[in-house]
Amino acid sequence: MIEKWSYSDSVESREIVSLEDKYGHFIDGSFVSPKSKKYFDSISPSTEELLSQVSFGGEADVDNAVSSAREGFKTWQKVKPVERSKYLFKIARLIQERSREFAVLESMDGGKPIKESRDVDLPQVSANFFYFAGWADKLDISWGTDKLKPYGVAGQIIPWNFPLLMLAWKVAPALATGNSVVLKPAETTPLTALLFAEICAEAGLPDGVFNLVTGNGETGAFIVNHEDIDKIAFTGSTGVGKQIQSTLAGTGKGLTLELGGKAANIVYEDASIDQAVEGVVNGIFFNQGHVCCAGSRLLIQESIENEFIEKLERRMQQLRVGNPLDKNTDIGAINSKQQLNKITELVESGINDGGSIYQTECELPGNGFWFKPTLFTNVQPAYRIAREEIFGPVLTTITFRTPEEAVEIANNTEYGLSAGIWSEKGSKVLWTADNLDAGVIWSNTFNKFDPSSPFGGYKESGFGREGGRHGLLSYLKEEK
Ligand code: NAP
Ligand code: MG
Repeated sequence: MIEKWSYSDSVESREIVSLEDKYGHFIDGSFVSPKSKKYFDSISPSTEELLSQVSFGGEADVDNAVSSAREGFKTWQKVKPVERSKYLFKIARLIQERSREFAVLESMDGGKPIKESRDVDLPQVSANFFYFAGWADKLDISWGTDKLKPYGVAGQIIPWNFPLLMLAWKVAPALATGNSVVLKPAETTPLTALLFAEICAEAGLPDGVFNLVTGNGETGAFIVNHEDIDKIAFTGSTGVGKQIQSTLAGTGKGLTLELGGKAANIVYEDASIDQAVEGVVNGIFFNQGHVCCAGSRLLIQESIENEFIEKLERRMQQLRVGNPLDKNTDIGAINSKQQLNKITELVESGINDGGSIYQTECELPGNGFWFKPTLFTNVQPAYRIAREEIFGPVLTTITFRTPEEAVEIANNTEYGLSAGIWSEKGSKVLWTADNLDAGVIWSNTFNKFDPSSPFGGYKESGFGREGGRHGLLSYLKEEK
């Protein structure tokens, strides 16, 4: 085992971020105190320090935001598509201008490494606004019909793993297609969404077109149950997604669900081993494994298991875990105490079931929520760690002998969001991809995103697509 290289600390300054002690909701173009009169804390998961207090969205707050969005929708309808497009371009440029501030705040509030928030999240966020800005005045041309209309008011509920990016995936296509929005960020990561609301005001977006209500799952449920919302777009867990689907059944409202995943990352014996090791590491340890499409099940051809696992462990040992604001950090903090408990519980079940565990030798900071990069071998497909979404830096390995067996194991899951295939043989890659039940499949790479490429799942990973032309259709309905 080689020694870990030593680095000097290279910590990004927090000075660029200025936070208020308390934030209101953003409704009808300005920040307003919560009618609930309640606030809750947003902390940094890497230090447990209080960053700010944000408003709790009660039923009256949601009602207020929906009324504002209803008026906002009327205003937005009167804005010509080409002008809508200009607002979105302006928002995209303002995000780019303030991207360092957004990136630092995202890492402070959610715990992800600055090199990811700076180099992945923020470039993708502005790219989504630029991409959908370009569509706003081309919808009729694209479908050759003027029969597709916006739903009206879109209620959007997002999780904590990519707080600003999930906002962009939802808000940009909704506004481009002429809908107005009521958005609820996750309880643990509301701060970049609040900064985004400031950007909307700065861009001069008409009042009521974008509304933000902060809160927890209860607030989300008020949005789902509100009678005057026309479409719900939800990204989160399969359990909550199922509840939302049953609430909306028979109401005629639009619904898209982007839910969990348990992706197989299949490595064939003819793959370039070093390249595959990098891809497998990126597939599971990117963003602490808090990724719906994470390659959390390594399916490895039996003939190369020993060599591959040895190289993988050696590579894992090089991962630097610690301060998210340090530019050297590969793995930041786990997003919350609750998520840390969930990961810990599932890992214990893996040990009790009989899996062999390998964890890297690294010192974890004293405060905050942390989990060592973890690899399980000797895993049977029936173990909980092979079936349930762990949503943490934990990889489980299962071996296979033939491509048919690999496909069978890969598809033996309730989910169907993503998958990876590593092989030098194009025909084998294509055969495998054809036979996998997954919405997104990468070959000899992993976790690559582009706003023009649709993203979404099958089975219990949800339905509807975000991104690309398909993503626009999620916000348009056929006029009767
Ligand atoms: P979650 O508990 O389902 O929460 C998602 C959002 O829904 C949060 O804003 C949450 O609020 C809110 N919420 C909770 N209960 C609700 C209810 N009864 N009605 C309406 N809204 C409710 O999921 P999570 O644990 O935060 O997020 C991780 C999950 O998201 C994973 O399963 C992951 O795979 C999935 N995910 C999927 C995609 C995709 O594109 N397919 C992308 C990213 C993440 P609070 O957070 O404030 O409680
Ligand atoms: Mg936080």
